[in-house]
Amino acid sequence: MNAPVPSVVTPTEPHVMQTYGRLPIALARGEGCWVWDVNGRRYLDGLGGIAVNTLGHAHPKLVPALQEQIATMIHCSNYYHVPLQEKLAAKLVELSGLTNAFFCNSGLEANEAALKIARKFGHDRGNHNPELLVFEGAFHGRSIATLSATANPKIHAGFGPLVPGFVRVPLNDIAAVEAALAAHPNITGIFLETIQGEGGVNPARIEFLQQLRQVCDKHDILLMLDEVQCGIGRTGKWFAHQWAGIQPDVMPLAKGLGSGVPIGAVVCGPRAAKVMQPGNHGTTFGGNPLAMRAGVETLRLMEEEGLLANAAKVGAELKAGLERELAGVAGVTDIRGQGLMLGIELDRPAGAVLGLAAEAGLMVSVTADRVIRLVPALILSSSEAAQIVELLVPVVKAFLAKEPT
Ligand SMILES: *Cc1c(COP(=O)(O)O)cnc(C)c1O
Repeated sequence: MNAPVPSVVTPTEPHVMQTYGRLPIALARGEGCWVWDVNGRRYLDGLGGIAVNTLGHAHPKLVPALQEQIATMIHCSNYYHVPLQEKLAAKLVELSGLTNAFFCNSGLEANEAALKIARKFGHDRGNHNPELLVFEGAFHGRSIATLSATANPKIHAGFGPLVPGFVRVPLNDIAAVEAALAAHPNITGIFLETIQGEGGVNPARIEFLQQLRQVCDKHDILLMLDEVQCGIGRTGKWFAHQWAGIQPDVMPLAKGLGSGVPIGAVVCGPRAAKVMQPGNHGTTFGGNPLAMRAGVETLRLMEEEGLLANAAKVGAELKAGLERELAGVAGVTDIRGQGLMLGIELDRPAGAVLGLAAEAGLMVSVTADRVIRLVPALILSSSEAAQIVELLVPVVKAFLAKEPT
């Protein structure tokens, strides 16, 4: 006998480890900037899988390319040359002006590689206790080393002892950077997100980035820009630091690079590109043909469809729409960000907005407790941006009217 089919499926997961406080929604499929849950309800996707789905869902040109790749070869190991690695590395080098790339599978892995490069850069120069300068508000991942580089004490809690060797200063404070470098002569690099993501969409200021570049050149240390979230066209340039007209020595990438296929990369300039030698670092899955194809096709389709310009234009429209509709609303303290990486800061913890927005048919995230974050696919259209505003503004107003400060 068949069990009766419930009219509305409520997801339960007795066997999945409880690492997330999830919304009671299970997504079944997506198309462009829209997703459908298992009950057939449609949502506008303002989250893009957390800045991952660059080309949206089920992109009509990405899908057949990946299908062809899966039918050809998914994985082979780094015992052999993988021609697609060279193809993707060459493209990243062309777009960044840097010289070499290493491929891995995620953001934290890209950051781990960066941290190892910074340490070995020190050891290679006789500095056997290398330290790194990191920042308040930073998020670099959930491995033991990258959570140690992360600022949030909630992410540290329960996982001590932390990895030593991180010196932390406030963001956008060049005097604090200079003072830390004077007090810690073993510092071999400065490590920051060009725009902090999990920290609440906080940009490093353009002058600050330019000053960091000068400081790193003066001290002959590495400028390491974590562009895992803000890179790959999200701000309207390929990499967010390009707005400051500078280049980093080390740039970890991940989220948007594969349009949803897991991938990470660390791209290096001449000061760092030769630090890693055979035997120093490795990965089983990293650089596999499927992930490399996803990276190659993502960057190719971004160019073909003019998605940098789209991110800049539609992002500006979205920000302007939010500014217009939320102007003067008590409880909204700031609207910031660039391109399609935007944050709306409230004066109170805003976690409940997640569920309220989903009920209204919109996917968003809330980060750093009180910042509603929008990081949709870079294919977002002007009319979809207007719909995000239409859906989100009443949710924010209703939330602020009900929820105490
Ligand atoms: C998401 C993120 C990471 C971690 O990436 P994972 O793929 O989740 O390991 C690191 N740095 C930044 C800036 C991120 O936004």
